[in-house]
Amino acid sequence: MTERRRISILGATGSIGQNTIDLIARDPEAYDVVALTGGRNVARLAHDAARLGAEVAVTAHDDQLPALRDALAGTGVEAAAGEAALIEAARRPADWVMSAIVGAAGLAPGLAALEGGAKLALANKESMVCAGALVMATARASGGSVIPVDSEHSAVFQALLGEDISAVERVVITASGGAFRDWPLEKLAGATPEEAATHPNWDMGQRITIDSASMFNKALELIETREFFGLEPGQIEAVVHPESMIHALVGFCDGGLMAHVGPPDMRHAIGFALHYPERRPVPVERLDLVRLGQLTFRPADEARWPALRLAREVMETGGLAGAVFNAAKERALDAFIERRIGFLEMAAVVERVLERMSAEGGLHLDTVTLDKVRQADDLARRAADEAIG
Ligand code: NAD
Ligand code: MG
Repeated sequence: MTERRRISILGATGSIGQNTIDLIARDPEAYDVVALTGGRNVARLAHDAARLGAEVAVTAHDDQLPALRDALAGTGVEAAAGEAALIEAARRPADWVMSAIVGAAGLAPGLAALEGGAKLALANKESMVCAGALVMATARASGGSVIPVDSEHSAVFQALLGEDISAVERVVITASGGAFRDWPLEKLAGATPEEAATHPNWDMGQRITIDSASMFNKALELIETREFFGLEPGQIEAVVHPESMIHALVGFCDGGLMAHVGPPDMRHAIGFALHYPERRPVPVERLDLVRLGQLTFRPADEARWPALRLAREVMETGGLAGAVFNAAKERALDAFIERRIGFLEMAAVVERVLERMSAEGGLHLDTVTLDKVRQADDLARRAADEAIG
């Protein structure tokens, strides 16, 4: 019998968190659940913490603690709230930790888990965008490791197994094109948050779904690719692939391309990260290639999706540019969801913030620390709020 593994899920109530729970709940004998964390959905958090027998459940919001305590009464699960409690829970010794909080808020808890030496399954791409070098250095220093969960990066990681990174010429990540892939350009200015929050292929959280329509998601992923695999910006491309079956391709120096193909179901990448370095069965649909018939590709047009052009600039700049880009994008996305700015204004706001902070000399830095990232994040949010007006 194999030993039970201690696991925690940060962002357990979200889309990735629930898919992770779906997988581990199928094999309860294999895992001891340490911590589950969530936000305002304390009913869901308490329900899962109780049925999985977690040690502790943490809500990010202090005002939700009484509700969480009530919901957990008599279950033996400890209840906690707030940022410090979240970090403390993330740091509890665990073999495997899922990082599935959305946004820059996921960085500090993920680092705390790595400091404890955990294997970190990283769905929170913002961690890599804001502080990729810091995340990797933290893993190295503690004996922990980082396994990508973003489907494109899991695909690249898998295509690289047994390969030498120095033989890689390029990496191509695919994009579905999101909700507005086929919309005429002139209609985009009037797009609503509801229209942007529907995805043709993937079922994901609201924020990443809107980011897919604007391609800010793909922009984050280009930067994430650079940080994860240590490639040069010119080696990384995005291509629109409406069927979302090929997630990424790795091109080698001999002209060969290794593609990773699978149905758009995040449980594949989550399951891969859960069992790595082994492979175990995961209950995702098996592709019927003949029924699928064909796979198509289109250019990822930077005029239609200016976020992609901004991502190139961020990759070239390095330093704190990723943290600034992400923070400005988070504020612009908030403003779009609250209908304070239009769909196309999101990229305009982010561009203005990058220009302003670059002119002030605030982007380049040799060593990116958590404090410096927090500072840059804070300044960028304020600059974005000013740009939004
Ligand atoms: P979601 O919105 O469905 O869930 C987010 C989770 O984070 C929830 O548990 C929420 O309570 C928690 N949370 C939100 N704000 C928080 C804060 N300030 N502090 C602490 N916790 C907070 O998001 P999701 O779609 O599951 O995405 C999670 C992460 O995974 C994101 O970084 C996203 O880009 C990435 N990702 C998601 C998918 C997907 O299919 N959903 C695919 C690839 C990558
Ligand atoms: Mg992705």
